[in-house]
Amino acid sequence: TQEHVGTERAELLADADKRTLIHPHSVIGAPAEPLVLDRGEGAVVWDVNGRSYIDGTCGLWQCPVGHGRDELAAAAAEQMGRLEFYSSFGDYSNEPSIRLAERLLELAPPNMRRVFLTNGGSEGNETAIKLARLAHHHAGNPERFVILAREGGYHGMGGGSLAATGIDRLRAGFGPLMPGIEFLAKPHSVRGADVTDRLVGELEERIAEIGPERIAAFIGEPVLGVGGMVPPPEDYWPRVQDVLRRHGILLILDEVVTAFGRIGHWFGSARYGIEPDLIVTAKGLTSGYIPMGAVLAGERVLDLADGAAFLHGFTYNGHPVGSAVALANIGILEREGLLERAETLGAQLLAALKPLERLDHVLEVRGVGMMLGVELTGPDAATAAAGVQAGARADGVIVRASGTTIVLSPPLVIDEGRLDTLARVLTEHVTAA
Ligand code: PLP
Repeated sequence: TQEHVGTERAELLADADKRTLIHPHSVIGAPAEPLVLDRGEGAVVWDVNGRSYIDGTCGLWQCPVGHGRDELAAAAAEQMGRLEFYSSFGDYSNEPSIRLAERLLELAPPNMRRVFLTNGGSEGNETAIKLARLAHHHAGNPERFVILAREGGYHGMGGGSLAATGIDRLRAGFGPLMPGIEFLAKPHSVRGADVTDRLVGELEERIAEIGPERIAAFIGEPVLGVGGMVPPPEDYWPRVQDVLRRHGILLILDEVVTAFGRIGHWFGSARYGIEPDLIVTAKGLTSGYIPMGAVLAGERVLDLADGAAFLHGFTYNGHPVGSAVALANIGILEREGLLERAETLGAQLLAALKPLERLDHVLEVRGVGMMLGVELTGPDAATAAAGVQAGARADGVIVRASGTTIVLSPPLVIDEGRLDTLARVLTEHVTAA
């Protein structure tokens, strides 16, 4: 029967997966039973057995416009048929990349001037870190290379981006990483505790210890993502920005998750009222239909680096197909009012989950826009969070355990019925955890 053929195919695929692939973030030699996905539409994905799942995480945060958008497939196909790719090194260029850069600068904070197109978030952070260091070097301060990063921050898996990632389990085992990175405390305010004075005080002290003349830049996510969906106190970013400016330290804002509507704005910088010197984006730029990112550079960093040879670039930077998809994706976000929708639905989901804070094993339910986290507490909290992830999936809802926090970031197109189901299933599993 049709169903039998389907089951057989699913088993063959699962078997072949386990024999052949190394998955990112997996254990070598101990492959997990894979969930082999087959198709998606809106906020739902189906596996090869035909089972459906509500996508409570938007994959890895990458899909604000939802799955299965023909318009994005058409944009990619159209561009592939015309010019699939040509390098952007040096003086080569292509129309979709030019148009995308123009569009991004229209949407970005007013101090942004130029765009460097990448293949993803890690590469974007490598680019931003190198550009910040090069800018000071070129301006006559080669000793100004220290990057301030934060515990709990996640910036990717490359040499510099991992070095700036403040999550020990991800750094272990790879030998020495990029030198010159200094860590500050995790900007964590549980249940609204006022922590800004402490964090800004620590920043000032560390700058004095290290010497401002040695510090190139500060890197941070507007809202900690992998580190547990932690929104900062409202006054945190403006105050950090003031301190950095006073000392001539550049601000790199890692907006790989927060840009393109996730927290209700094109850029999280607007949400927190700041103007960073470099903004790193990826994921939502193309909704993940094709790997792409963009680094936006502001006037201060460009002034410092004016005339410097930036001998940096990856083959697929400025990809015309990625750029065409990004333009179409931005069009959908705008046309369908998805930024506003992130605010409305995010508030609704937060209100639905907030009662979980009554449980002793729930430390906090928090969120901004459609970035939410349910943090568990207690000695077995990480195991319990992993159990919630597994239990919800068995009930047809995908959520993700990141340490002790269950993280949620549904596609912005999710309908209210599915949002209710997501909240109900999660509530059941967290309650039983
Ligand atoms: N920065 C942040 C804030 C992220 O959340 C991620 C990925 O989750 C990255 C950077 C790395 O991006 P990529 O996996 O595209 O290299």
